[in-house]
Amino acid sequence: MRVDFNCPVKDGVVTDNTRIRAALPTIQFLRDQGARVVLMSHFGRPKKGPDPAFSLAPVVRELEKLLGAPVELITDPFTDASITATKRLPRGGVAVIENSRFFPGEEANDPQLAAQFARLGDIYVNDAFGSAHRAHASTEGVARVLKPAVMGFLMEQELKYLGEALDKPKRPFVAVLGGAKISGKIDLIEALLPKVDEILIGGAMACTFFRAMGLETGNSLVEAERVDMARELMQKAARKLVLPGGAVIAQKLEAGVPTRAVPRDQIPPGWAMFDVDAATEADFAGRITAAGTVVWNGPMGVFETPPFDHGTLAVARAMAAATAKGTITVVGGGDSAAAVAVAGLADQMTHVSTGGGAALEFLEGKVLPGVAALDDA
Ligand code: ADP
Ligand code: MG
Repeated sequence: MRVDFNCPVKDGVVTDNTRIRAALPTIQFLRDQGARVVLMSHFGRPKKGPDPAFSLAPVVRELEKLLGAPVELITDPFTDASITATKRLPRGGVAVIENSRFFPGEEANDPQLAAQFARLGDIYVNDAFGSAHRAHASTEGVARVLKPAVMGFLMEQELKYLGEALDKPKRPFVAVLGGAKISGKIDLIEALLPKVDEILIGGAMACTFFRAMGLETGNSLVEAERVDMARELMQKAARKLVLPGGAVIAQKLEAGVPTRAVPRDQIPPGWAMFDVDAATEADFAGRITAAGTVVWNGPMGVFETPPFDHGTLAVARAMAAATAKGTITVVGGGDSAAAVAVAGLADQMTHVSTGGGAALEFLEGKVLPGVAALDDA
């Protein structure tokens, strides 16, 4: 079973076990069926082969705690002894093989490595939605050779919520997009435009649109080479595209610096937009509340540095309130999901995706190779 156990770890201890907990329903189901569960996951980005700094050992300890059962870490999974060890697990027993990126060929999707992974089991289950956008040996290659190859409950849920939001949205369908760069979100805007009723734009992305409107943007993060594209998108989107009416600006990016709130056409030279202003928060909140479906990707400001987290938290709160009144709310994006978690609002959304890049690519309408290789895709 492929999982995404790429959790934050500090001093050998998992500091956020969300991803492990997300895989538990499938792991428990398999154990209850009497399966011997052999888990594999990548962890971090080891540069050249096995590296103790990228061992899954801390994750194994956390998994043992969550399961209340011993979990075996298999460091060298391709020896005959290791393969025998997986077969000798008691029914319901769980083993984890070391970081899939320790083995040459994982990221190149080497068929030989995929065949070696395939020897570790009789059935392949993929529950690693967060890795589904990459065709790696442990996600795509192995699913081609180890049959049956099926999805786990987490994968199924992710595809259900993201898919339903896109394909049969309750209207009005509103997308909220933010983040640093318009360049990383162009495919997303293009894919969403024909489907949505409105796209609300925040983050530094908004500044590239401001520049396309001929406004002064001071020291704000603007992608000069994307200004023409932003202008074209605005023409194409017409009234669907909703930009912030005002900005919270500062002279430098630091917690507690003096800030000002200004209309978007009054950003002075030497100042930069780091968040949307209160009027924009109210405008966006109103549109979110009135929506039938909201999909959110990308923070409204530099939420890592207060007070520039204000707009992002306002969107998170508006979405939580909308959820309570029946709006379908979906958060897809690593940083937006982190902001929702920090605000303690994750359980007040219809769905918070566990996949940053994978959710983005899914929303862009791209095929996820890790999903496409499964029998039940
Ligand atoms: P996600 O992970 O949710 O898809 P992105 O990775 O696209 O989001 O963007 C997140 C980043 O965008 C954050 O690090 C945030 O600080 C940055 N950002 C948002 N607004 C601004 C801004 N006005 N100026 C500079 N950076 C910004
Ligand atoms: Mg991000």
